Amino acid sequence: SDTVERHEFGAEVGRLLDLVVHALYSDREIFLRELVANAADAMDRRRFEALTDQASALPPDAKVRIVPDKAARTLTLSDAGIGMTKAELAQNLGTIARSGTRAFSQALGDAKNAADIKPEDKPSLIGQFGVGFYSAFMVADRVTVTSRRAGSEEAWTWASEGQGSYTLEPATRAEPGTDIVLHLKADADEYLESYRLDHVVRKWADHITVPIAITGEDGKEENANQGTALWRKAKSEVTPEQYTAFYRHVGMNFDEPWATLHWRAEGALEFSALLFVPGMKPFQAVEGERASKVRLHVRRMFITDEAELLPSWLRFVQGVVDTEDLPLNVSREMLQATPVLTKIRRAVTGRVLTELTNRAKDAEGYRPFWENFGPVLKEGIYEDHERRAEIAPLLRFHSSAVDGWTSLPDYVSRMKDGQEAIYYLVADDADALKRSPQLEGFRARGVEVLLLSDHVDAFWPEALARFDDKPLRSVTQGAVDLSKFAGEAPDGAESPATVEALVTALKAALGPDVSDVRATDRLVESAVVLSASGHGPDLQMQRLLRRAGR
Ligand code: ADP
Repeated sequence: SDTVERHEFGAEVGRLLDLVVHALYSDREIFLRELVANAADAMDRRRFEALTDQASALPPDAKVRIVPDKAARTLTLSDAGIGMTKAELAQNLGTIARSGTRAFSQALGDAKNAADIKPEDKPSLIGQFGVGFYSAFMVADRVTVTSRRAGSEEAWTWASEGQGSYTLEPATRAEPGTDIVLHLKADADEYLESYRLDHVVRKWADHITVPIAITGEDGKEENANQGTALWRKAKSEVTPEQYTAFYRHVGMNFDEPWATLHWRAEGALEFSALLFVPGMKPFQAVEGERASKVRLHVRRMFITDEAELLPSWLRFVQGVVDTEDLPLNVSREMLQATPVLTKIRRAVTGRVLTELTNRAKDAEGYRPFWENFGPVLKEGIYEDHERRAEIAPLLRFHSSAVDGWTSLPDYVSRMKDGQEAIYYLVADDADALKRSPQLEGFRARGVEVLLLSDHVDAFWPEALARFDDKPLRSVTQGAVDLSKFAGEAPDGAESPATVEALVTALKAALGPDVSDVRATDRLVESAVVLSASGHGPDLQMQRLLRRAGR
């Protein structure tokens, strides 16, 4: 009919569809996990919107319904979620605008087709990204999505065979929400069997708190998930497998958590928390999103993942905090103002730091954590005045004196007699650090220098200023007096008069480009070295400021 609009998929969608459908074929049951997760998210979003907009209120029996139809060879997933407008259908299902999917397609990189993907890469690809809606095409050769946005009267049907284009046409739907109809492929019969569907939902979606019902042979609905809030259980009732399954669910992870923190606070403040530090750096690196995404629940009910329950320098922590101390209909404004969240934040931050402090005692065990998230933790030094002293001993560094990682307390324990400051050098990369002439004099005298090459290293040492009462000093800053440390004397030293004459000549030649020229004992091999003045920003900071056009 002439109300049907045909659209081409965004450029990357076709390739992605091909990769998802073929590369992940052997794990194709995960399509159900993806679609159920979307449906549950849509219901959570509607519940949250209803707090400020009555039109969005969720019906009391709201469920995700999974209905197989053997005669029609279709599998239908219906939810009472937020729904999608026509524009959202086109945007969400027709383009790769979302970072997750784009990252997925980047991770596949040069793979022109599915055969290029190494089998050992597949599980982690699935785990890290969640391939999302398009996984429906693993089992269906035609998918229709009929959706009505909460608060709107209009409904639209999106339909595609997953072959380069999709159609949009007006539809009707009695209530807000979404129906996804999968026209199953000839070899996907198993997904018409309710016991099979039940098995997959239990395996992948048991911890989803929205009820999920599967319609059986007899036409009756059976609840498939327990919907238990794992974090509310006693630690002794939760198996390691359940923790891992939940961890993978909340953070779209595939690995094992590096740390699992599960506790219940009672007394003045009541909340349960189940938090994880990932074992791997998530692909959507911590650089992109700055705010903590730890989920806030009130009496089991999901409220928002935007409450910033942890400071941004702990944004790698994933999980759930569930409190009794807020009303269920807490509004956004209230979330910003309430002292309850301030107190929870403080308690949760302290608990995470305690865990890190304990785990840091085991150098080998701590290393993967540090290598994944160390640069993020360093941000805490300049962002969180209050926690600075707790964070500083958790930091790890390379240094001119030792292989592997070292810490500030270890550095201090190795300081030479008479050494007053903790010396450090910042550069763009580790190689530049090793070659730097700035280090020569220190090396020759056996004075240890911390070698810093993370992006944030230009900022935090100055914020920390001191550790264990010893000032932190950049070796590029001002005239460090190394004369008190015995070392190799430079060969064939020139007479003071010759040196003086050279300094005068250099000053004249360089004119206003430099503020001073000085003889130094910091060099052994090299003839000259740039130095920052004693008080201004150190050299790396000056470089950054120049790049920023300041
Ligand atoms: P992801 O869920 O990782 O964002 P998907 O490809 O699964 O990726 O879905 C893309 C987007 O489509 C979702 O972010 C969501 O906005 C929307 N969407 C998918 N399924 C539903 C649904 N059942 N109800 C409402 N919106 C949905």
